[in-house]
Amino acid sequence: MAKKQFKTESKRLLDLMVNSIYTHKDIFLRELISNASDAIDKLAYLSLTDEKVGLSRGDFQITLTPDKASRTLTVSDNGMGMTAEELEKNLGTIAKSGSLQFKKALDEGEAKDVDIIGQFGVGFYSAFMVADEVTVISRAYGEPDAHRWFSKGADGYTVDDAQRDAPGTDVILKLKENADGENYDSYLDPHTLMALVKKHSDYIRYPIRMEVEHTHEKPAPDPKPEDYKPEYETHKEWETLNSMQPLWNRPKKDVKQEEYDQFYQEKFGDWQPPLAVTHLAVEGAVNYKALLYIPSQAPYDYFTRDFEKGLQLYSSGVLIMDKCGELLPEHFRFVRGVVDSPDFSLNISREILQQDRQLSVIAANLEKKIKAELEKLLKDDREKYLTFWKAFGPQLKYGVVSEFGTHKELLKDLLLFWSSKAEGMSTLREYRDRMPESQQFIYYVRGESKEKAAALPQTERILDAGFEVLYLTEDIDEFAIQTLNDYDGKVFKSVSDPDALPETDAQKEEAKKQGEESKPLLDFCKETLGDAIKEARVSHILKSAPVCMTADGPMSFEMERYFEKVEGSAPMKAERILELNLDHPAVQALKAALDSDKDKAAKYVKLLHAQACLAAGLELADVAEYTDLVCSLMH
Ligand code: ADP
Repeated sequence: MAKKQFKTESKRLLDLMVNSIYTHKDIFLRELISNASDAIDKLAYLSLTDEKVGLSRGDFQITLTPDKASRTLTVSDNGMGMTAEELEKNLGTIAKSGSLQFKKALDEGEAKDVDIIGQFGVGFYSAFMVADEVTVISRAYGEPDAHRWFSKGADGYTVDDAQRDAPGTDVILKLKENADGENYDSYLDPHTLMALVKKHSDYIRYPIRMEVEHTHEKPAPDPKPEDYKPEYETHKEWETLNSMQPLWNRPKKDVKQEEYDQFYQEKFGDWQPPLAVTHLAVEGAVNYKALLYIPSQAPYDYFTRDFEKGLQLYSSGVLIMDKCGELLPEHFRFVRGVVDSPDFSLNISREILQQDRQLSVIAANLEKKIKAELEKLLKDDREKYLTFWKAFGPQLKYGVVSEFGTHKELLKDLLLFWSSKAEGMSTLREYRDRMPESQQFIYYVRGESKEKAAALPQTERILDAGFEVLYLTEDIDEFAIQTLNDYDGKVFKSVSDPDALPETDAQKEEAKKQGEESKPLLDFCKETLGDAIKEARVSHILKSAPVCMTADGPMSFEMERYFEKVEGSAPMKAERILELNLDHPAVQALKAALDSDKDKAAKYVKLLHAQACLAAGLELADVAEYTDLVCSLMH
């Protein structure tokens, strides 16, 4: 069959593997074993419901066959196998998970240091770090014929017909010649292979077996002659090299942090260790063991439709579902891990499982544990929590808003916001604890950045009154705050709200008087601007600025913008209120003009209106009109 080229994206990764100067080349073995184990998982799962498979759990195995004469190492499995098309598709293109992440990191320059190769699940291609020829003979379950995939590396691969008695896959590595201090021979040495399996693949749930040569002393004749010299004989025996004890089944005290991390990185193909791990062994109404990980970065597809949340679900060590979404609520969809419970029947269907009561009990329990883990991180290791927040913070805020605020109690203490009083981000508890007795509300302002939010005219007077203001810099922040409504007895209040600062009766009286006196001015503004504003008001929230635009009612300008951006149009417009600062010289100039020159006064109103729009981050309806206006006022 004609030679085919690798897809370009794969080629680069392959080149890197072929020419790798990476020092821990042994990881190739764990990658091949892990692929074999995945392939067995698939067939083992099928065998639960399909008698035709004809294999039971005890029949599955992975074998290693080193052959010094041909200088090959073969990794075989009796798993699902691959069809000719699958051989091409899976081995000719860079697959999902680990290898793709690695390639992305390479492209982004994060992985300049080849020494981090081992942290990725680099997959099948890692075979080329130790082999200069790779042959894969595979027969897919349900297919009568087998096929051979063969490649010498970057120049391409071929796929031909082959022979194989039963479904499964053999990966045959023709090891490179020893060179430059690299001893590839060692991968033919049973002791090295045993040690590697112990180190990287011990928890694999199927036996990894190898035929090992044993030397015994022959039994001595009885009685022993005086000049007896012991004689030895050798024989070969199949041995299982791994303990098959899943990590989650081991007592917590016996598991080292590195083991938890390594398990996570290998299983989920993340090149960063996790931020935290929770290991649970629960006995009672439901029995289960679980390992829950909080990743330190979002997987590459996290924000795409392709991302599927869920934990791996096992029943007594047998994988029954790869991504069981029902085990995780949406707001904790970033969590990865495994749950193993003997209470699920092995051949439970997905549909039945979804309504299973045990499953929802476990899910409710896990939700609490995840929350506790995040709280612990927040309390004990702020830096790590910030890493978490950077990756997944918005997810928690969406969690507050979703389902009409059902989860707000659960999540409110995990949220972080920027604030006027703290360097870094603050929790609501921290804000609340900093509040003086006299402060009635928790203040917030929406802005594109901390700096812009702080510079808004309406923020100024709250800050001047000595109160702390939360700076809501993300679209979702404001929705989250509105859903929460209050925190520990204090209501959230926008700095633009006329009631944001408590007023004395005398102040209220004065404001009323001012409003009445200024009625002609305010009416003139409304007449001049028409539908561009709902109304003009005397402002009590401005200090150094002449005017500002505030939104009346529940809809803010930022929400309006958000809906326009995301949905194409806002369900309703924010109601625009033009607020005038009567003490400001510019507003006084307007008042004077109103008595002497109405045309000029109208121009002033339009100019101030434009200023208010710009300060609030609103677009000008007619930029040309605005420039004409400025020019006409200048001469
Ligand atoms: P990954 O394991 O991260 O998906 P790999 O490059 O290791 O990437 O493998 C690519 C794909 O080839 C796998 O996803 C799997 O579908 C297939 N594959 C690899 N090894 C085997 C095997 N021993 N048996 C069946 N399929 C395999």
